[in-house]
Amino acid sequence: TDQAHIRNFCIIAHIDHGKSTLADRLLEYTGTISSREMTEQVLDQMELERERGITIKAQAVRMLYTARNGEQYELNLIDTPGHVDFTYEVSRSLAACEGALLVIDATQGIEAQTLANLYLALEADLTIIPVINKIDLPSADPERVRQEVEDVIGLPASECLLASAKEGIGVSEILEAIVERIPPPHGNLGRPLRALVFDSHYDSYKGVIAYVRIVDGSVRVGDRIAMMATGSVTEVIEAGYFQPRMVSTQILSAGEVGYLATGFKNVKDCRVGDTATVPEVLGQIEPLPGYKPAKPMVFAGFYPVDSDDYPLLREALERLQLNDASLSFEPETSAALGFGFRCGFLGLLHMEIIQERLEREYGLRILATAPNVEYYVTKRNGEVVKVDNPSAFPPPGEIEKIEEPWVELSIFSPARYIGPIMELVTARRGVFKEMKYIEADRVLLTYRMPLAELIVDFHDQLKSRTQGYASLDYSFAGYREADLVKLDILVNGQPVDALSIIVHRSEAYRRGRALVEKLHKLIPRQLFEVPIQAAIGSRVIARETIKALRKDVLAKCYGGDVTRKKKLLEKQKEGKKRMKMVGSVEIPQEAFMAVLSLK
Ligand code: GDP
Ligand code: MG
Repeated sequence: TDQAHIRNFCIIAHIDHGKSTLADRLLEYTGTISSREMTEQVLDQMELERERGITIKAQAVRMLYTARNGEQYELNLIDTPGHVDFTYEVSRSLAACEGALLVIDATQGIEAQTLANLYLALEADLTIIPVINKIDLPSADPERVRQEVEDVIGLPASECLLASAKEGIGVSEILEAIVERIPPPHGNLGRPLRALVFDSHYDSYKGVIAYVRIVDGSVRVGDRIAMMATGSVTEVIEAGYFQPRMVSTQILSAGEVGYLATGFKNVKDCRVGDTATVPEVLGQIEPLPGYKPAKPMVFAGFYPVDSDDYPLLREALERLQLNDASLSFEPETSAALGFGFRCGFLGLLHMEIIQERLEREYGLRILATAPNVEYYVTKRNGEVVKVDNPSAFPPPGEIEKIEEPWVELSIFSPARYIGPIMELVTARRGVFKEMKYIEADRVLLTYRMPLAELIVDFHDQLKSRTQGYASLDYSFAGYREADLVKLDILVNGQPVDALSIIVHRSEAYRRGRALVEKLHKLIPRQLFEVPIQAAIGSRVIARETIKALRKDVLAKCYGGDVTRKKKLLEKQKEGKKRMKMVGSVEIPQEAFMAVLSLK
């Protein structure tokens, strides 16, 4: 297709504002997929995504649309992930487009991720088409939202299109606007290939499938290509586009969006944001801007509940990583939990998704340690170490200073919740930056806050304090020094490594107390007295004692019939398997699970 007849666009929206539903309607209207084939929300393919209503992987679909001017256009819809954990993926998907439909729920108005996504789209220089969705709902107030678009976003209210993705209202106007308002691509066909990889997935037959936007030149099946960031070279096994099934073709050329089957065995060879070119010009032409390797921000230990599952857990993580270059993991041993992995994630949602997939797709039961961030620790001897695991923290005496990551936080909320939000953020060491009124009764609050405070239950707290009305977005805002300590939990004098956490000094007592009390309730009595302590270095800050067992329980079984005794012993053996030894104390697995889910 000549570039004048191509339009590349994406849909951006706050979660639940109707992005996927609108995408489905566009596919249906253009006949890309018949309504009979239309299962609900085709673009959200993974079961998990569907259940959670979030899109993890960007997808691209080619539609053919005959406009009112009688000409046929190739419209490439690139679906972007809708969650803050995946900002970088969103930005790469946007870089593959010239325009964006900005979907806003007519009953909700602009929310945190509406703006966050809009800013990313503006950075990518996209033409924005505002679409006010859900106008079929009785509580819809499109006029109010129009005004918001003008006041907050600065786009003329008259440019807003009104739609109901559910009822199919406004779909043809949206398609016309895509053709009329979004500029066609302006690639240079005569130059060497430059293709932006905006997503990829692993296919066991064809290797890594790269989702690409051809910026300059063209690529054919059988061509050799080179990845500019990784230097990997391969041959294109197959080229094509999505409709939404994969349709193979001989060539993809400047301006087009599609896929390349690369034969690479790992997505690491073909990273999101990288530029594919021809090996001959490697090092001679500029890569497309914006590449950066995904960097994990949140870390946790993952341990199989059943230690026999360790090899399966490794295999499962390896498989997930084939598709997800932002997931990192390395083996880790814990005296208390045995063999496991220290995993790195983009954010908390990413961590939850991985844990859920391990459990659901691989039938694994996972014990996850409390998530933590990565600290920069400067030692007295001048050495700086990066620590992503509390048990690897240097002893207090060796530490000169500790720095932790901070984020800039945007919260949208009805004005009546300003008080509770301030309270929550301040209790989490947040610092107020500014407040803007969006409307008479809605505000945008901006704060700076340690990331560590955000990953422990912050989102749920925010939702519950604002009755679900507030929305949240954040971006990384550098490292800052902090007065942090490592809090150890000791059972019978032995530190339980899996329970160590890094906390702000001012929070150490409260957290230590809570952990000690909880463990006190959960650890069964032993034949001897067991102290449970919380300590910073060698200083104990909280203590409880489990009293010794007085009577020998087994006394009950002397005499009696043999089968009953056997059964009892069997049962005890079963129970033993789920016990973890810490020093000479047996701690039931359930105690760890309960403590680790402690907020
Ligand atoms: P996404 O998170 O932006 O992809 O939003 P979805 O497309 O998954 O939509 C979220 C919810 O809003 C779903 O329950 C949809 O059925 C519903 N929805 C989407 N568009 C409309 C609409 O135009 N009208 C109504 N009444 N509901 C809609
Ligand atoms: Mg969706």
